[in-house]
Amino acid sequence: MDKLSNGFMEEVVKACRPYTAQGEVIDHIPGLDQSHATDLGVTIITKEGDVYSAGEDDCNFSLQSISKVIILLMALEDFGKEVVFQKVDMEPTDDFFNSISNLENYEGHRPYNPFINSGAIATASLVNGSTVEERFQRILSFLQTITGDDEKVKLNEEVYRSEIKNGARNRSLAYFMESTGVLSNREAEEALDLYYRVNSIDVNSLALAKLGFFLANHGKISATGSQLIQSRHVRTVKAIMLTSGMYNESGTYAVDVGFPLKSGVSGSIVGAVPGRMGIGIIGPSINKKGNSVAGGQVLRMLSEKLRLNIFHDSTIV
Ligand code: GLU
Repeated sequence: MDKLSNGFMEEVVKACRPYTAQGEVIDHIPGLDQSHATDLGVTIITKEGDVYSAGEDDCNFSLQSISKVIILLMALEDFGKEVVFQKVDMEPTDDFFNSISNLENYEGHRPYNPFINSGAIATASLVNGSTVEERFQRILSFLQTITGDDEKVKLNEEVYRSEIKNGARNRSLAYFMESTGVLSNREAEEALDLYYRVNSIDVNSLALAKLGFFLANHGKISATGSQLIQSRHVRTVKAIMLTSGMYNESGTYAVDVGFPLKSGVSGSIVGAVPGRMGIGIIGPSINKKGNSVAGGQVLRMLSEKLRLNIFHDSTIV
């Protein structure tokens, strides 16, 4: 087994960077363009509190779909598992992340899971607060507490405007769910706005590694010992990350990497190795399914060389 060090991380980035050529940078997120096509940054935080980092780890980028993890954590804490999973199911799907067809056919018209767009919009209707602004501020301050960063971790107004402008598909998902009674009219409008805002929060690979570590540490902030989210809810979120966190490539990642992950179309990935470490990756060149190609390769390498797969045989006695 390899030993974690900054030198080791640099070797991993060097070996995986060529894979950036196999994807493309999405063209409608402000701040992300082809000049970032070969970027690859990785940060790891271990349970000892050590931080290891390499590549473009100083890049700021928007959360995009990693918002779905945070929204689900808040909804579970606010309303509990029974209520949340009446609105949205917890099953994987082979459909693309922004698919609408399953809403017409699937049981009770519920979205398959909280990590596809329809599911995240439905889940966003279950975050407490009397206005969208209040609900957003609760989520932002939660993320700032986890990351210990209230300077870089903030709403990117330009990305928010672009989420609204390019939100036709998400609006159609929300209105379709209104038509089938999954959401009321008010819920649909507010959930959409909240979803756009949380997608537009700026982070970097260190912030994602801290989020990953928070999940790996079962919802507790190590430095203060405060349990921000009940561990049973964090367990639920990690299970859904394993089965649905990498869109319709989640099965492949469960086999090849073997720990909970969530990706976003900015090319970011958060990883949580339970009880061991948090991982934050940025690699904006993504494949057709929405996942960072080089980032995926980094995960495969880390999993193999550091023996991170939770199904590893080393635990057999
Ligand atoms: N802003 C994107 C959307 O809602 C996020 C999707 C993603 O990262 O998967 O379509």
